[in-house]
Amino acid sequence: MTESPKHSQALTYWIAGAIVAAIAMALAAPNFAAHFEIGGELFLRALKMIVVPLVFTSVMCGVLGMGDIRQLGRPGATAVGYYLCTTVLAVAIGLVVVNVIRPGVGTVDPARLEEIAASSELPHGEAEPPGMGVVLENLALMLVTDNLFQAAADTQLLPIIVFTIAIGALMTTMMDNVRTISNLITEANELLLRFVMALMRLAPLGIFCLVTARFGKAHAEGQFLQELQQIGWYFAAVVIGLAIHGFVVLPAIYYLITKKNPYHYISAMSQALLTAFSTASSSATLPVTLECAESAGVSKRSTEFVIPLGATINMDGTALYEAAAAIFIAQAIGFELSIADQLIVAVTATLAAIGAAGIPEAGLVTMLIVLGAVGLPLEYLGLILAVDWLLDRFRTAVNVLGDSVGAAVVGTTIPEPAAATTD
Ligand code: ASP
Repeated sequence: MTESPKHSQALTYWIAGAIVAAIAMALAAPNFAAHFEIGGELFLRALKMIVVPLVFTSVMCGVLGMGDIRQLGRPGATAVGYYLCTTVLAVAIGLVVVNVIRPGVGTVDPARLEEIAASSELPHGEAEPPGMGVVLENLALMLVTDNLFQAAADTQLLPIIVFTIAIGALMTTMMDNVRTISNLITEANELLLRFVMALMRLAPLGIFCLVTARFGKAHAEGQFLQELQQIGWYFAAVVIGLAIHGFVVLPAIYYLITKKNPYHYISAMSQALLTAFSTASSSATLPVTLECAESAGVSKRSTEFVIPLGATINMDGTALYEAAAAIFIAQAIGFELSIADQLIVAVTATLAAIGAAGIPEAGLVTMLIVLGAVGLPLEYLGLILAVDWLLDRFRTAVNVLGDSVGAAVVGTTIPEPAAATTD
């Protein structure tokens, strides 16, 4: 499933235009801007509506794409393990950067804070922070549900992702018996992705409503400049995190394993990175990524298996952004998330990134999972949306870089076939 680069380009211009118009309206007529809240709510509801089925089919397709897991062998297991480790590293960087820069921290209107506290599921009060054992226990309980349908109804995606991975892995071992189900899920995934793309055509309108209502409210409460400043710092924090991951962490891993200059490799991948930046879609970039990695000398055996796998399950940039954005929202509403909550954010962001599709703004859909996991209110998404169209491009480039570095690193562990003897 790919998005035409031209479409995604036009969509970005529309979204950027909508945001400028939304901010202008919020400044000119803040009280009128508040009336657009309903439009934003409808857009969010439409996104939430498809989260559960989309995550199910998208994760399932990723697992099915690996083929019989019993035959995955060492290279397959190495690729999955490697991608999981780099995603966790990306999440950790996102958490550190956003906790150091603290972009969301500011003066929060106490009345507003009380309102949020009353309406959200966030734990409040000065309760003793739970011990690590309790935290791990709670986390384990969040991963397994006793009622799949209840979990789906409550948009608790963690147990659904765990279930999907388990059942998908089982399906790969009995493909001859479940061909129909597998085709059904693959087709459903195609359909849902089309639906997301159709929804994204409405995104300029939805984003206009969310942003104008959010900033209109901020302006009416005299907080506009503060929110603008917060959003600027948030943008900087995510870009700094992405830069650390893309230019320091991934190159270090590349150098440690391959002993080659990582920056030569990055420059060889530049066409793919630019395509990722301009399309905001790692799926649409896939052919270019494959081409660049092969020309950069990564073995065909590795590129053909590791990069497509990465494009499905490995999204370092998205994971980093989801963790950073959740903490940012918590800071903006004046809630200090405990270490336990941040651990939940980390696990959720990792799984949410695995479940995200490689299309523009897919991270925004799975972002709802992360916010839901720690009970953060969705209305603050309006704040994040003002810059998300641009951040999406940066994180997509990092997603593609992560896949490419993965191919080179895992490629060193895949033995080349014995050279064919030709006369
Ligand atoms: N646009 C990203 C990608 O295609 C996913 C995301 O929204 O984070 O990789």
